[in-house]
Amino acid sequence: MQESDIEINVKGWVRTKRGSKNVAFIALNDGSTIHNLQLVVDLEKIPESALAHIHTGAALSVDGVLVPSAGSGQKVEMSVNRIEVLGTAHPDEYPLQPKKHSLEFLREKAHLRFRTNTFGAITRLRHAMTFAVHKFFNDKGFYNIHSPIITGSDAEGAGEMFHVTTMKLDAIPKTAEGRIDFKQDFFGKEANLTVSGQLEAELAALALSKVYTFGPTFRAENSNTSRHLAEFWMIEPEVAFFDINDDMDLAEEMLKYLINYALEHCADDLAFLSKRQEEEEKTKKAEERSMELIEKLKFVLDQPFERITYTEAIDILRDSKQNKKGKFQYPIDAWGADLQSEHERYLVEKHFKKPVILTDYPRDIKAFYMKQNDDGKTVRAMDVLFPGIGEIIGGSQREEVYDKLLSRIKEMDIPMESMWWYLETRKFGTVPHAGFGLGFERLMLFLTGMGNIRDVIPFPRTPFNLEF
Ligand code: ATP
Ligand code: MN
Repeated sequence: MQESDIEINVKGWVRTKRGSKNVAFIALNDGSTIHNLQLVVDLEKIPESALAHIHTGAALSVDGVLVPSAGSGQKVEMSVNRIEVLGTAHPDEYPLQPKKHSLEFLREKAHLRFRTNTFGAITRLRHAMTFAVHKFFNDKGFYNIHSPIITGSDAEGAGEMFHVTTMKLDAIPKTAEGRIDFKQDFFGKEANLTVSGQLEAELAALALSKVYTFGPTFRAENSNTSRHLAEFWMIEPEVAFFDINDDMDLAEEMLKYLINYALEHCADDLAFLSKRQEEEEKTKKAEERSMELIEKLKFVLDQPFERITYTEAIDILRDSKQNKKGKFQYPIDAWGADLQSEHERYLVEKHFKKPVILTDYPRDIKAFYMKQNDDGKTVRAMDVLFPGIGEIIGGSQREEVYDKLLSRIKEMDIPMESMWWYLETRKFGTVPHAGFGLGFERLMLFLTGMGNIRDVIPFPRTPFNLEF
């Protein structure tokens, strides 16, 4: 038997159908690759009436033989023997037509947008990156920790957390003083969705040495930007015996590993996304256009990231033409200001022209757990800034000295009762340690060249947006 005689079965969804008198061509896709399989239907073998219900979006099961393709678009195509319509899609009703739809339109069709080239590519890339994250850490001897999603500690993000309750919202029990009586709630105390798995990861790192979490994270910040979600995924390694320099080395190594993994394993999808981005860029002014996607990924791989202190960054920003001409929305005049995305991107895209790691931020704009420097002003924080994104990673060496941590907790008015367990780790076998958080969707923005974070997670949660 010749190889080409072997009949195979394929199943998938119709992207397009076109035809002539004697032959019909159907492009079928099952989501496994950006490339469609071309089905060639000989209308002498299969009557045209059998194809009447085949339109864009229909699901088919097809038996046939793979043959070298006469056309230029593909190496092989399928010569069809039998065709079964598993599910129809009425052309007047099916929202996805074989033409370019806007990303805004597709967000409203999130239940169907997986079926487009763009979202197929993003979904496969997202999967590959999830796998690569676990592989990276596993190969380095890290243990994956499942940190809790519901938390009783309100330490990190007062005001930014989603409440979790089973109390009836129209009859919330009150105490004698008129406050909400959480004793009557499910957990007997106030509960929230977590903003970070870090504190729990620290507990594990102080026993297993090298750990990481990779889970959903929730922030009720009402920032309607293209880089913020209310529900996003965060990767948080935490390592005992690490200082801030080890932490930066790990962050840089991980980002480069992931980018390289994407280049090696997702070439077809990246090539498609690159073309997509190029089309998009044509609508922008020349000076606002970004680098070609794959070139940009390789560029980041080849560069050692620039490492400078916050203080040095402030000097650069204050003296910049941009600042002097009043072109920053938030002008930089004094040391101590929190950096906005526009400042981060200036440093990366205009000044250094490569990723930048900023260290030693003012302690007043950073979290209580960060290790205090001897200057009494700064902490051993490190943020990784990326082109087109701004902050992609936020991390630090942690304060491991009990008394210093305690005084910081008191200074910042953090409710101590909920933090006793965290403090205890500084009493029993405390060691220097460090870690960071990588926002998975920020990484996906960078890798895909997409402009809006709502398009790199299947079902984005943002203010007033909870349809799917
Ligand atoms: P930003 O200043 O950009 O809001 P952040 O300082 O609040 O970030 P961290 O608390 O340090 O961020 O969180 C660690 C990482 O998680 C960030 O570097 C970023 O990649 C990601 N991240 C933070 N907030 C969000 C969000 N709302 N949506 C998506 N990713 C986020
Ligand atoms: Mn934030």
